[in-house]
Amino acid sequence: MIDIATFGETMAALRALDPVRLGGTMRLSIAGAESNVAIGLARLGHRVRWTGLVGDDETGELVLRTLRAEGVDVTRARTDERGPTGLILFERRVADLTRVIYHRAGSAASFLAPDDVLPSLDPRPRILHVTGITPALGPRPAAAVLSAVTAASKAGTRVCLDVNHRASLWSRAEASDVLRPLLPWLSIVIASDDELDLIAPAATERDRVKALLDAGVTDVVIKRGADGATAHTPKTEARAPALDVPVADTVGAGDAFTAGYLSGVLDGLDLPARLNRAVTTGAFAVASPGDWEGLPTRRELPLLEAPPGTTVR
Ligand code: ATP
Repeated sequence: MIDIATFGETMAALRALDPVRLGGTMRLSIAGAESNVAIGLARLGHRVRWTGLVGDDETGELVLRTLRAEGVDVTRARTDERGPTGLILFERRVADLTRVIYHRAGSAASFLAPDDVLPSLDPRPRILHVTGITPALGPRPAAAVLSAVTAASKAGTRVCLDVNHRASLWSRAEASDVLRPLLPWLSIVIASDDELDLIAPAATERDRVKALLDAGVTDVVIKRGADGATAHTPKTEARAPALDVPVADTVGAGDAFTAGYLSGVLDGLDLPARLNRAVTTGAFAVASPGDWEGLPTRRELPLLEAPPGTTVR
């Protein structure tokens, strides 16, 4: 039995220690918004399935092997010979500015189609999590998202969308045109404050939140970077400040945050408690290098409450 299913593109990730054009040492790992969330949830003890297509190549093996090692179910993922595993380069250009370079056009994941993801919803998970990145990969992945979201919702699975706009993949107008039809099927919407209008165009944030709640969304969650987050349900709202942590690498904070929030939903926590878990997992991602490597296990969740400089023995 799976608590939560997700799917999308996971790439081989190279982290450059110097500007890429200078060459030098790179560290190889994996990265993908949905698999980052999957790892975050698995670390917290939830049963999570990631589905996707990787190339029939060594980096595809790295993706599947890493997810398996993290306790993520990849039994519905497969290799596909039509394209390679995508590649993402992270270049720490200056101390607190990371540049991301994609080599993902024509990747195996761009061939993801409804038939690749629908079997991953059987048996029915409690939650399906999708992001706005997958439909930006092309018409087939967009159809996969629409069919999975529709089928899951009709079967009684709660559907979570993280809007996750990627300006390098498509324009805001294109994103809005594809994401808005998903709205009737969504239970949980997570977005940065500058992304909410892509799914709910309205003049003010208050109006956007109201439009989403009126459409049947039960949780509207807004990420505000170093300012923390807010969340709204039809009955209540909550605000949580970001935790005060040293910033090592902000990439992946949003996915870590989403993992924490969904973990709180699965555990039946009330709104302030699930938002608190989200800002905590977000802070772990910010305070450690890598997208997902520093995410906490359940036992580690209280670790950031320790004073700076603490040695845990
Ligand atoms: P990304 O796309 O880089 O993963 P995002 O834009 O989706 O990030 P953010 O709003 O930057 O998401 O971050 C998500 C959450 O992580 C925030 O709501 C906050 O709780 C936490 N967070 C982000 N930046 C910081 C920070 N500097 N210090 C502490 N917590 C942070």
